[in-house]
Order: sequence, then structure tokens, then C-alpha cells
Amino acid sequence: MLGGDLSVARRGLMFILSSPSGAGKTTLADRLLASDNNLTLSISATTRQRRPGEAHGKDYYFVSEEEFTRMRENAEFLESANVFGHHYGTPRSLVEDTLRQGKDVLFDIDWQGAQQLDEVAGEDVVKVFILPPSREELEARLRKRAQDPEDVVQKRMAKADSEMSHWAEYDYVIINYDLDESEELLRSILFAERLKRRRQIGLAAIVKDMIGDG
Ligand code: 5GP
Repeated sequence: MLGGDLSVARRGLMFILSSPSGAGKTTLADRLLASDNNLTLSISATTRQRRPGEAHGKDYYFVSEEEFTRMRENAEFLESANVFGHHYGTPRSLVEDTLRQGKDVLFDIDWQGAQQLDEVAGEDVVKVFILPPSREELEARLRKRAQDPEDVVQKRMAKADSEMSHWAEYDYVIINYDLDESEELLRSILFAERLKRRRQIGLAAIVKDMIGDG
């Protein structure tokens, strides 16, 4: 399979996925990561409680408010934001090390994080927004997820509205009608972005040998 394993040296890129909760972003991110050796997930730090099934160091680094503040003051984050009452931040070191190796980093972050990364590293940033197939479908998914009371579901929908209102700030938008299709579309975006001339920094030397002087 086409692995995006280009033979030309290139700059790594920062592949940002944002979406409201329930649109399929996590599943799509997992699929991309499983099939692409050149893509590494940025694991965020958060002050929110660990949910059942989540692991420290895999899904998030679960830290206290004090630890989060210390990390922020030490400039250990590339970006950080308060998302619906909890702090989230992207640790700088893994991202910088990965990009330096010419590999790409996948970010599952909200619109605030996407904006901040764009400001600090615009050239290397590619932003993709995932929308649900419809409002009805999103609500059905948020209901199916947990048997929560009506007001909890409505709060989730309000959060989704707030996130979705930022869709136009993204380079690409995918409406997730079908997971397999959306996965293919995401992979197409990633591959096309990898082939951008300015990212293939090894190209000039290769082409120089190819083109004769006459
Ligand atoms: P959850 O708590 O449900 O895992 O995530 C809530 C929201 O926070 C999601 O939209 C997720 O993309 C976002 N998020 C997760 N990590 C980060 C981060 O490091 N920075 C920012 N800005 N948002 C994040």
C-alpha cells in the first residue's frame, strides 16, 4: 500500500484534526495512526479526570492543576487552552523531535489549539475539520454514547455547536458520512500535503542530477 514513505527528505508537518465530540474524529485518528509509520500522535496533558478505559501516557498525560500551571510557566507547551472548564496543552518536546526527523505529528485538539499552532508554525500546519453527517445524526450519536439525562445531551450539543462554529478556519473540511470513505479522504489530504514542493527539502539536489546542463 502507498505508505507516504517518500524517498526525498522533507519537513514534517503538523496534521490537526478538530471536530465536535461524536463526529468520528478519534476513530479516524486511530485508523490513520495504525496505517501510517510516518505519523505520530501528539499526546496532550490535561487536568480533566481520566475516563474508564483511558490510560495515562497513551490517551493523555493526566496532571494536576499545579503541574499544568508549572508546565505552562516553564514554556513546556506549544499551545494550551481551557476547553469547557478543563485545561489541555500540547507538550512541545515530542512534537519538535518528531518534526526534526522529517516525520509528521497528528493533533486531536480544538479550534483554540489549531489557531495557536497556526500562529507559531503556520508553514508546517495543516488543519482538517470533521463534521458529522447531520445534526440529527450527531445528536443520535451523543445519545447512544451514554444513557444520560436530556439536559446532559443538550449540553453536549451546545458544546458541539460552539466547536462547529469554527469550521471555516480550517484548510479542509470532511463531512463524515462513512468512516471508510472519510479515512481515504484524510489519507489523500495527508499525502498531497507531504508532496508539496516546499516540504520536499531534498528535492533540489535530486532534480539537479536529473536535469542536464544543456
Ligand atoms: P476530551 O476531554 O473529550 O478528550 O477532549 C475535549 C476537547 O479538547 C476535544 O475537542 C479535544 O480535541 C480537545 N483537546 C484535547 N487535547 C487538547 C490540547 O492539547 N489542546 C487543545 N487546545 N485542545 C485539546
